[in-house]
Amino acid sequence: MSSNSAGSDNLMEAIVSLAKRRGFVFQSSEIYGGLNGFFDYGPLGVELKKNIRDCWWNDMVRRRDDVVGLESSIIMHPKVWEASGHVAGFTDPLVDCKVSKQRYRADQLFFAAVIVDGKTVGHVSALESERTQEELQEAAETFKRKKAIQGQLAPVVIKDMTEAKPEEVPLIPSPATGEAGSLTPPRAFNMMFETYVGPMRDSSAVAYLRPETAQGMFVDFKNVVDTGRVKLPFGIAQVGKSFRNEITPRNFIFRSREFEQMEMEYFIHEDADWKKCHDDWIEWCRSWLVSIGLPESHLSLYAHPKEKLAFYSKGTVDIMFKYPFGVQELWGIAARGNYDLTQHANTSGVPQMIFDEATKKKFTPHVIEPAVGVDRIFLAVLCSGYAEEDVKDEKGNVEKRTVLRLSPRVAPIKVAILPLVKNKPNLVARAEELYRKLKRKYSVFYDESGAIGRRYRRQDEIGTPWCVTIDFQTIEQDGTFTLRDRDSMQQTRIDEAQLFALLEEKVY
Ligand code: ATP
Repeated sequence: MSSNSAGSDNLMEAIVSLAKRRGFVFQSSEIYGGLNGFFDYGPLGVELKKNIRDCWWNDMVRRRDDVVGLESSIIMHPKVWEASGHVAGFTDPLVDCKVSKQRYRADQLFFAAVIVDGKTVGHVSALESERTQEELQEAAETFKRKKAIQGQLAPVVIKDMTEAKPEEVPLIPSPATGEAGSLTPPRAFNMMFETYVGPMRDSSAVAYLRPETAQGMFVDFKNVVDTGRVKLPFGIAQVGKSFRNEITPRNFIFRSREFEQMEMEYFIHEDADWKKCHDDWIEWCRSWLVSIGLPESHLSLYAHPKEKLAFYSKGTVDIMFKYPFGVQELWGIAARGNYDLTQHANTSGVPQMIFDEATKKKFTPHVIEPAVGVDRIFLAVLCSGYAEEDVKDEKGNVEKRTVLRLSPRVAPIKVAILPLVKNKPNLVARAEELYRKLKRKYSVFYDESGAIGRRYRRQDEIGTPWCVTIDFQTIEQDGTFTLRDRDSMQQTRIDEAQLFALLEEKVY
């Protein structure tokens, strides 16, 4: 029996624990108590992350004729962030609790008035979760019972703190203390990390760690056009670290303060059919996620309502993923018009235009931007791949196995080579020979210690799609070995050429 539908909290706990135990993800600076919102990727984690990045780069850049790559610097001229609007507007609404010193994102802190027989008798609050509505309803019922208030309780109408009227703020209880009166009204908090360039520590030396990689593509637009032999429509892609001083980093690596983005700016003619191009990229991104193993059933689309879009935006659609803690944004695909290039042209004084041979006129291209976080894909891969199953061992006894059903494209180890016994030199020699041969091209693992069943389980838990066992038939008869499939646990006999053909087909 397979299950990864245990309680969502349990599932997250199991995944975080596996990630630590098997060397996927560690908390940063753990021996000093950790640093909230920062993570390290261990030996298996770096492999998985690199595979996600490589799959994206190969499919997005190398296998296409219309996208080129870029690596821009993390610290850029501060004017970049003035032009992009980040200095003035890259903010989240922050609420402080003056008593507990806790800080909350106002749009993640919900409240409701408790209304009995049409009269407001108090307020309740809760942090955003899968069950915010239910939690607030329960809190309202508890409030009424504790205060022994008679009458009919109305269903709660929930709002977040950005919607609170000034006179309501002092009445809303802090989630930390349960008492009203300590929450501040929301204020704008800029999420960019500041630093200083050079020896002076004054305002003239202030610079920022980039909060997104995208501005690199806009600032280098002319350089790429002038040197890259590109013709519209074309894209510039980049993978790299971004930094945001998130108010409430949470849900493991889902929302952190240092993370990695894979972004692509696809430049199109100002008269091009932007809607079709936008739709095509949404579909490309969705099917790419499926190609690295995310189940279609966990993916959905969310179109941002028109009234919530920035004034220059023509439309944004997010690909959402069903994480154990709720359906959340994984990949944003935005149609940004020509806003960014125009802003940089105006601020720098350097035109960002292209010459149209057909009309003999210059124009500023428009852009479609698919932007995704590597760490969020990493977490989605772990969450949807994780399962605990009851299986029968060779003697028919039922035992538990933990398995990560990772696609061979992203699995950190593609094949484990297991000699059946370790005390037969020619058997071990054949296993080592195959191991060395495979290692030239693939990430493989050699393991000769412990019972074969235990060795299979160890590989199941880290998502290795296949185990190869070298046995007596290999060396004494026909050279074939057993190939054990992680998901079906079926074993078949194949030879070396068939193994290489299988890897060639599945690992790309
Ligand atoms: P959110 O609304 O979740 O804060 P966003 O809409 O601000 O995200 P974008 O600015 O569109 O995010 O960034 C593009 C992508 O970068 C997101 O879809 C997400 O995959 C990733 N990302 C953004 N912020 C973080 C973060 N703090 N930690 C990890 N990944 C992030």
